Amino acid sequence: MKILVVEDEEALAEALSEILKRNKYSVDAVYDGEDGLEYAMTGLYDCILLDIMLPKMNGLDVLRILRKKHISTPVLLLTAKSDIEDKINGLDSGADDFLTKPFVSGELLARVRALTRRKGEVITDEFTYGDVALNKSTFSLSREGQFVKLSLKEYQIMEMLMANPKQLIPKERFIEKIWGYESDVEYNNVEVYISFLRKKLHVIGSDVTIKTARGVGYFLEGGD
Ligand code: CA
Repeated sequence: MKILVVEDEEALAEALSEILKRNKYSVDAVYDGEDGLEYAMTGLYDCILLDIMLPKMNGLDVLRILRKKHISTPVLLLTAKSDIEDKINGLDSGADDFLTKPFVSGELLARVRALTRRKGEVITDEFTYGDVALNKSTFSLSREGQFVKLSLKEYQIMEMLMANPKQLIPKERFIEKIWGYESDVEYNNVEVYISFLRKKLHVIGSDVTIKTARGVGYFLEGGD
C-alpha cells in the first residue's frame, strides 16, 4: 500500500510518514499543493492524506481538480480543528473522510485502513492465493502450518503480486510503488527480492510460483 502525504508543516509530515512506515505502508511526502497535485495525478497511491491550508494551491482545490480528472484515490483531509465549514466544503469537493489535528496514531491508522479496504473485501489480516497465505500482522508467508518471515520489501512485493493474481506486474510498477516515485533503484534490486521470495515459497513447499515475463515483469502462477 502506498500513501501520499501532502502537508506543509514538515514536522507533522515527518510524523505522519513515520507512523505509516512503521505500519508497513510506503510513503511519499510533499509540502505544497502543486506538488501534491502532480504526485496525486500519477494515480499510484492507495490513499492521500491532504492538508487544507497549503502553500501554492489549497487542499480543496487540489481535491476538486483530482476528482474532475477522474482520479478517485481515497482522500483523507487533514483539518486544523473541528471546523464544520471545512468539512462541508471538503465533502462537496470529493473528500472521503477527515482527520482533525491533533490526532492520535491509532485513529489515523484506523481511517487509512477503512479507506484502503477494497469494496466488498472481507476484513482480514490475510491475503491468500493458491495454497499460500500472506499475513499482514505477522509479516509471514505460510502454507499448512509451515511459515517463513518476510522482510519489508519482500512483503510489499508479495502483497502486490497477491492483490493482482495472474496479472503481469511490470518491474517499473514495483519500483514506483515500493521504492518511490523518483527512485533511482536499479531493476536488479527487484530481481534480488523476487529470488528471495521464490526461495521462501520453495521452503514452505508451495505450488505457487513467481513467473518472469522476460524484460517486462512478474506474475503469480499455481493458484488453481
Ligand atoms: Ca497547513
